[in-house]
Parts: sequence; structure tokens; C-alpha cells
Amino acid sequence: MNPRVETTIEVLKLTFNDHITFQKICQFVEVIRNKPLIIEADAMPLGLTGYCIPLSDVDLICYRERSRDMDLLSQLHEIGHILLGHIDSPSNMPAYNNFIREKERIAHSPSVIKYRGMQFDDPEEHDAEALATLLLGLILHTESELSPVARELYGD
Ligand SMILES: [Zn+2]
Repeated sequence: MNPRVETTIEVLKLTFNDHITFQKICQFVEVIRNKPLIIEADAMPLGLTGYCIPLSDVDLICYRERSRDMDLLSQLHEIGHILLGHIDSPSNMPAYNNFIREKERIAHSPSVIKYRGMQFDDPEEHDAEALATLLLGLILHTESELSPVARELYGD
């Protein structure tokens, strides 16, 4: 496994004391990128499950809506690209409010060409997917630990 993937997992575990949730990962991304992270469902070409665009004022992740776990994996894959340093911050990107056309989104997306599930011979795609899979496992583990407590507190 790429050492950067392992290091990222270790840093997140240490930062969040092993209780990793999706919300905490998003907050972590916002801190390291120093801008909000916006995640939206969006229409996209067949075969594409998500993409990430570093806009001037936010990082925008779009994903194709499927099922909850599949959506989480798509979102975590794009977050993986950010955490692994695959997403630059070009100076010429528009702000979120000026960025509405789907074609423009696609044209600006660095990861759109190398989309999930199709090009795993690309090491960046492979690493993003490996990180996403590990993170999903950690999130589901946290949820499985918390749910008995939640059930006790709020259950019938
Ligand atoms: Zn990707």
C-alpha cells in the first residue's frame, strides 16, 4: 500500500481518537484546505460516480446518487484525492456562485478524466479508492459502536 494512504489513516485515527465519522473527515478536509467543502449530488456521464473541483472559495465534490453506502464510497473517493494531495489549487478557478454549468464543471475537474471504477491502473485512482475503502470501514465501525448507545438513549 502507498505509505501516504497508511499515513493518512494513522493521522485521522490519532486526530479523532479512533472515532472516525464522515462529518469529522469533512471538517478535517476543510481545515487542511482552509475553505469549505461542499458535497452535492449531480447528474454526470454514465460510468462516472463522482468528481472533485477546487473552486476559488470552496472545494466542490459531486457524486452520482445511488445507495447510501455507495454514495459514501464515491464521496470518500473524492475526499481521498484531496487528502492524498492529488487536487491542486489553481489560481484561475471560478467561485462557487459563478460555477453552475455541468459542462464547465466537467471541463474543470482534475479527476473527471480518471474516474472511479474504470482506470485503476492509474496509481492515483488506486490510492484514492484504497483510502476510501479503509475510511468507509472505519466510519461503519464507529457507527456500529455508537448505535447501541444511541439505541439505549433514544430507542423505544
Ligand atoms: Zn478518482
